[in-house]
Amino acid sequence: MPDILISEVGLRDGLQSIDRVMTLAAKCAWIDAEVAAGVTEIEVGSFVPAKLLPQLADTAAVVAHARRHPGLTVAVLVPNAKGAEAAIAAGAHKLTLPLSASETHSLKNLRRTHAQVLDEVRAVAAMVQAQPAGARPHFEGSVSTAFGCTLEGVVTESKVVELAEALMAAGVDEVGLSDTTGYANPAQVRALVRAVHAAIGADRLTGLHLHNTRGLGLANVMAGLDVGITTFDASLGGLGGCPFAPGASGNIVTEDLVFMLEAMGLTTGIDLEKLLQVRHILAEALPGEPLYGFTPDAGLPLGFVQAA
Ligand code: ZN
Repeated sequence: MPDILISEVGLRDGLQSIDRVMTLAAKCAWIDAEVAAGVTEIEVGSFVPAKLLPQLADTAAVVAHARRHPGLTVAVLVPNAKGAEAAIAAGAHKLTLPLSASETHSLKNLRRTHAQVLDEVRAVAAMVQAQPAGARPHFEGSVSTAFGCTLEGVVTESKVVELAEALMAAGVDEVGLSDTTGYANPAQVRALVRAVHAAIGADRLTGLHLHNTRGLGLANVMAGLDVGITTFDASLGGLGGCPFAPGASGNIVTEDLVFMLEAMGLTTGIDLEKLLQVRHILAEALPGEPLYGFTPDAGLPLGFVQAA
């Protein structure tokens, strides 16, 4: 087992942030190449109505393709019970349902209050439990806008803790924290993870979804490592960028994250040379779309060896 699990989210978070639609063939080639590089978890799409996100309309077909790779965890985002039903029918291994810490954000994006989202979580948990043992997907509730909100501003630690507890009570297997807006700083990451760990147990919060909007993505990863986080979401080439900050990647860049961890002696199971080659698939499928990352631009340092 590698020390750190990197979950590639470019096919969901990256693609939903750009207007152009990547072909199914290119998505499949992207998945195949990342798996060949050693990536073991990919969030391949989202089960939302096609009219809202035409970029992700083929998610069921992408799941079907990704499932052919033994050992790959095929993850998807689901906004509600209806999406979860489709995700389970498609055979996704992991479902993530976001609950926005900011109720204003929740109403605007999902048109649902916290209580209404938690009702959906309970319905999904029941659906998951009804699956035969061995075919039961892992169910994660993700507290989004956990570090601050573009509509409400400050999000308090107590609100995030309260929602993490509510998610656990509603039947999720695990809680994640998302810096949806790129507001997080390292001190805040440490404090919030500690507070949530104290409330629900360290084994129930193992992953962070970070953005690099203000350049603090990798610094926030370091803070997460300090407090025992072992799973990080990242996007190849930082695909999608940030609409509010031109020149800034959206998610943290998978290539830079792998480089940092491996250079520090932490294993990821990912072959960095092979991973860097996967960018060509994106560049060809989405000509002109900016791809980010310092490591791809600068190249690997002379004498660099991966952690063993
Ligand atoms: Zn995100």
